[in-house]
Amino acid sequence: MRRKLVGILHAQGTSSMLTARRYRIRRPQGPGHSPSVTAISVAFFCLMLAACSSRPTQPDTRLVLAFTVDQLRGDVLPRYRSRFGADPSSGFGYLQRHGVIFSDANFDHATTFTAVGHATLFTGAQASSHGITGNAWFEGNRQVWSVDDPESPVLNGNPNATETGSPRNLMIETVGDALIDELGGAARVFSVSTKERSAILPGGRHGKAFWYDRQTGDYVTSRYYYEKTPTWLVQWNELGRVEELRNKQWNLLDDRAAYIYADADDAPWEPDTEYLGNTFPHTLDRGKDTDFFSVLRATPMADDLTLDVARRLIEAERIGQRSGIDMLAIGLSATDYVGHVFGPSSLEAEDNVFRLDRALGKFLDFIDERVGLEHTVIVLSADHGVPEIPERYIAMGSDSGRIDIPDLMRRIRTALSEKFDTDRNLLTGFSNPAIFLDHSAIGELQIDPAAVEAAVAEIASDEPGVAVAITRTQISANKMPDPALAAKIRNGYYASRSGDVILVQKPNWYLHPRPDAYATMHGSPYRYDTHIPLIFVVPGVTAREIGRPVRAVDMAPTLASILGLGSLEHASGQILTEAVPALPGFAATQH
Ligand SMILES: [Zn+2]
Repeated sequence: MRRKLVGILHAQGTSSMLTARRYRIRRPQGPGHSPSVTAISVAFFCLMLAACSSRPTQPDTRLVLAFTVDQLRGDVLPRYRSRFGADPSSGFGYLQRHGVIFSDANFDHATTFTAVGHATLFTGAQASSHGITGNAWFEGNRQVWSVDDPESPVLNGNPNATETGSPRNLMIETVGDALIDELGGAARVFSVSTKERSAILPGGRHGKAFWYDRQTGDYVTSRYYYEKTPTWLVQWNELGRVEELRNKQWNLLDDRAAYIYADADDAPWEPDTEYLGNTFPHTLDRGKDTDFFSVLRATPMADDLTLDVARRLIEAERIGQRSGIDMLAIGLSATDYVGHVFGPSSLEAEDNVFRLDRALGKFLDFIDERVGLEHTVIVLSADHGVPEIPERYIAMGSDSGRIDIPDLMRRIRTALSEKFDTDRNLLTGFSNPAIFLDHSAIGELQIDPAAVEAAVAEIASDEPGVAVAITRTQISANKMPDPALAAKIRNGYYASRSGDVILVQKPNWYLHPRPDAYATMHGSPYRYDTHIPLIFVVPGVTAREIGRPVRAVDMAPTLASILGLGSLEHASGQILTEAVPALPGFAATQH
């Protein structure tokens, strides 16, 4: 009831003074509880005031909450619309009731991977500008992780730790960076995620990022952000929240009959995983420490941990509870791990969404208490979608399969040796989705790199499951076969990081260096990988659903506009005006 009323107030526009926290109408605490007479009177007065006002205004914005649900394909939330809508404790239901929902939002790059997606969402630019072309790439003969930075070791208590993390490979600003640049000390940016890249990239250059370290089971940060781990995080780690999960089971949240996939828990295409098995209940008490720390990411408990860290962070830093404006990006990674392990159309994936929904609802209650939802702008999106498990496609009679990259690379290497009459390996390696050539070897042998690229592309193109192999030379000369695909390739192309021959799989085919590692894998230019949810909840903006096609790069410019910021210098996205208040409250009070 409370949220509905607050939503009406937002939709109509109210004065910030009248919706200050002490007047908010709280959700009933239990049976028989009803809003106080004072609260109802205030709500009525607000509505009257709104009706009399010719120009809507909003309460001041104190917090921007940016949720990125890893691998949440665009069709998942609409599938459960009636469930979420009927449940007052539903987090997705809150977004559904109060949000501007863009139901046809897509990435327009071919490299639909986690790091690329997060960088694109938060910069509003393509990888051709922000430079994050994949989760990893090669520089010379060295494979570089997207957020590696030798100068920024992870602060995980191990002085010999080799893990590092910073946004130094991100070439342009994020919307959070712009917020800080424009407001100076009046703005702060924080980010938390299970995955390091899903925290670091949304945090931008000026934010503070925290993520889960699967080596230690702790949440960590790096030297880029702090000299030593903040006390609040040390204390959170000492609570032992991760250890508490060691003997826990993952059971179904609801009665089995409530699930679409109730009868699919033991589907023949669902792999039997080493530690979790493939049917409910899934037990977490197996394996040595590092296995346990790793495996728990593929359960909804991973997001519970991340949200718990976010709550502690909000308390410790008083996020959204001071003058100015704070941004908190939260990367929810469990959906991705669950999807990779069990497939997106599994009972596990479905239960994970239901549990995430409940966890988000509780988190929004916390935000309402600490900050006030009327002072909070929320955006929810995803970094990419996901296809079904290849064996499921095959069982349904579709063309699908797994491309064996190590085998393909061996055959290419042999063919190159014969063609160019050399024992030298002319390949550096494969970093999804590209083959990288060894340019120093090619230079020393005085071979034309374009000839090597063409030879590689010819062999790769013949591989079952490969739709097309595109060479660096073709991209530079703008000679790509399919214009729509060419645009997606170009958007993701950053010359020094994108490799020499880019592989594009056929629809429903799985392209990964380890064909046995995951049940399924995203990373294609097809709709199942590009289609994402994009929802804005903005005080003062009426909830509605927008069906026109929009792009992932539109998210950051739209957020910037909502916050009254100047345009993002490098962004190529458009402002989605349906989500922007007519008179941004923040701009009105601060500029
Ligand atoms: Zn991802």
